[in-house]
Amino acid sequence: VPELLAAALPPGTVRTGVRAVSASTTAVATAEHGEIGCRAVLVATGAHDAAELLPGLRVPAFHPVTVMHHTADRPPLREPALILAAGGRGPVAHTMVASEVDPSRTPPGRVLITSTVLGASAALPAAELDRAVRAQLAAVYGTSTAGWELLATHHDPYAVPAMPAPHDPRRPVRLLSGLYVCGDHRDSSTVQGALASGRRAARAVLSDFGAPPAAGSDTNAGNAGTGSVPVAAA
Ligand SMILES: Cc1cc2nc3c(=O)[nH]c(=O)nc-3n(C[C@H](O)[C@H](O)[C@H](O)COP(=O)(O)OP(=O)(O)OC[C@H]3O[C@@H](n4cnc5c(N)ncnc54)[C@H](O)[C@@H]3O)c2cc1C
Repeated sequence: VPELLAAALPPGTVRTGVRAVSASTTAVATAEHGEIGCRAVLVATGAHDAAELLPGLRVPAFHPVTVMHHTADRPPLREPALILAAGGRGPVAHTMVASEVDPSRTPPGRVLITSTVLGASAALPAAELDRAVRAQLAAVYGTSTAGWELLATHHDPYAVPAMPAPHDPRRPVRLLSGLYVCGDHRDSSTVQGALASGRRAARAVLSDFGAPPAAGSDTNAGNAGTGSVPVAAA
């Protein structure tokens, strides 16, 4: 998606690897690339980073997520399937044989099993979690996991903004004329929510600049669909 959005812009418009350290309506100060002047700023980071750049912005509570990657001699399943492991029989929420889903993610002939742990279990020590995950995956895949090798464990304590009821999925994205914020913390805690908030923010920028909405952007600014993000102002 980022590449599709960037491809619609003139070459050189998007610069990556540039860390913003402060933002105002007229300029962004960066860590290593000096100050960049502008007519408007849209902060599109996670909630913690957004609050660093925009002091006073609400930072929600977060749910942790841990992702574990195992390898095995043989794929435990020869299908490009995401398996929902709900049912309370272990910490894994969902798992897949990633090398079957996307063979480009592994060297030829290698097997990669990727499993996601949500909630309190995600905070368990890695070795303890690995034992519980293996036991559950043995039942899920119907095979022994004793010989599997743990390749990596990625724990993110701030993975997903919490959405306790009553949740507002349309938090303001326009702070003032020339200063905007988007991201999953302004909408729902998903890629779709992040994109929908980006679309709302882009519309606000266009409106403040007196420009018509980008061609193809529907007038329903809710969460339905993410295919028409107006790239001209994103
Ligand atoms: C392990 C895991 C699994 C998930 N699984 C799913 C899933 O299956 N489905 C789903 O819908 N969602 C999933 N999510 C949630 C989803 O990834 C997020 O909701 C979404 O990526 C949020 O998008 P965003 O654009 O708001 O922020 P991000 O994707 O976090 O992007 C923010 C960007 O801002 C950059 N940045 C931060 N600070 C600065 C700065 N000072 N200067 C410049 N750049 C900066 C960061 O480097 C980052 O690239 C998952 C999240 C995690 C962690």
